[in-house]
Amino acid sequence: MPKYIFVTGGVVSSVGKGTVAASVGKILSVRGLRVGFVKIDPYVNVDAGTLNPFSHGEVFVTDDGGETDLDLGWYERFLDIKTSRQNNITTGQVYAEVIARERRGDYLGQCVQIVPHVTDEIKARLRAAAKGLDVLIVEVGGTVGDIEGQPFLEAIRQMRLEEGVENTLFIHVALVLTLKATGEFKTKALQHSVNALRALGIQPDIIVARCETPIDTEARRKIALFGTLTEKAVFSSHDVPYIYKVPAILEEQGMGDFVVERLGLNTGRPDWSGWRRVMEMYENAKETVRIAVCGKYTKLADSYVSVKEALQHAGVNIGARVVIDWVNTEEFESGVRNVLELGGYDGVLVPGGFGRRGTEGMIQCIKFCRENNIPFLGICFGLQLSVVEFARHVCGLEGANSTELNPETPHPVIDLMPEQKKVRELGGTMRLGAETVRIVEGTLAHRLYGETEILQRHRHRYEVSRQYWDILQRKGLVFSGFSPDGKRVEIVENPSNTFFLATQYHPEYLSRPSRPEPAYLGFVTAAYNRRRLAAEATTPLKM
Ligand code: GLN
Repeated sequence: MPKYIFVTGGVVSSVGKGTVAASVGKILSVRGLRVGFVKIDPYVNVDAGTLNPFSHGEVFVTDDGGETDLDLGWYERFLDIKTSRQNNITTGQVYAEVIARERRGDYLGQCVQIVPHVTDEIKARLRAAAKGLDVLIVEVGGTVGDIEGQPFLEAIRQMRLEEGVENTLFIHVALVLTLKATGEFKTKALQHSVNALRALGIQPDIIVARCETPIDTEARRKIALFGTLTEKAVFSSHDVPYIYKVPAILEEQGMGDFVVERLGLNTGRPDWSGWRRVMEMYENAKETVRIAVCGKYTKLADSYVSVKEALQHAGVNIGARVVIDWVNTEEFESGVRNVLELGGYDGVLVPGGFGRRGTEGMIQCIKFCRENNIPFLGICFGLQLSVVEFARHVCGLEGANSTELNPETPHPVIDLMPEQKKVRELGGTMRLGAETVRIVEGTLAHRLYGETEILQRHRHRYEVSRQYWDILQRKGLVFSGFSPDGKRVEIVENPSNTFFLATQYHPEYLSRPSRPEPAYLGFVTAAYNRRRLAAEATTPLKM
């Protein structure tokens, strides 16, 4: 029978519940347990696909085409597993199901209520996700006290009764403030959040204090006392130089033994050897590589968290730390910044995106990289804009564009995929999830992947228009990856440059710290090489 660990958060949102959940998962999985996750997002959206990445961060795409919360990305990167849409539950999904059932007549004669109908649906989904696992870790998004979160907290409260105390464990993660002047830890807000949780009928078994520096014995004692816990059940999740260190700091404080004992789990001895290698790579990465990520949602680094991680995975695997500058390309358009400054970077990445804002600036960046042989990686939107740039400036197709950005363009080099033309609703209707990509032998892509068939995750509506394939290829753009039917361009590259590659898929979702994704690894390696050669470069930059 699976055991359940529920992770709640207090005091502030984004307190690091996802990292703690993933770390506890790691701690259990190195002991040989089968661990899975569910992220609960209490918002009413059915999935993350329609949320604004500015405020909610990246949409993480799963193999089965789920548009999910970015925490699923952390679970995948920490445990090297694959999640699915089943691993992300929202209020929208739960209510849609309950209401559909009510309309079908499944509850005939009953008054449909949050308790029991909504909470039953939540519990059923959690139990379905726990099938075949030793432990399911359920992370409840938001902060204790949020109105939206209440049905979920009520459902997990009931699960303790139904599954048994010995099979359920509650971890509460809350912020502990430090007063800079005195270095004193302030635990009052945390205490209040524990009280809020108790008011809902949940007594935590473990409290994780999220703080800047390790909490001292006094703070630990206070948290234990007011949380009604032993001091052994209080853990400190303090700032670390890189996120993959968090499992180690929790393990050092005895998290693994505590959880295993409390849940009566049968486990082997922990084997940290693989993870230790990851940590060593992060600790030993001495050189730096500077990458400019040129996009629109660059204000919140979480908007591109998988991109950021994929770059870093690639970096540490070649002994370098990647320093990322997030560049808002609207600033190139308005003249606040000049693309010439990209010459100071070792590589430029144009990530995925939607809508017109900032796109002319992105096209300027791509032109600059192409003309000055700066290592370039384009992702999805980045591929589409690379094709637009090439069409305009190499093929002489003036005004070429994507119909997403200018429906009236004389040269729609990027256009809606045929099956998208009849789509009216925007939620969950893109080309989503894992699809096979065939790689053309003898290309850069083939050298990178060393395979002719790969599986990659997608999230797009537009593609390279067939009618322009001929001219683009004649002028030197190489299509090095296709869909299996040969009808869809998946990878483009420019062999005139040392490294100029763009993918219609999102390779970052598959990157792992111990296994960097080949496109990212190739890109960061090219950037690293450029840095080393930079001293010798004398050719002036072209505009
Ligand atoms: N907006 C583009 C499309 O829908 C690119 C999407 C993306 O970058 N994920 O095809």
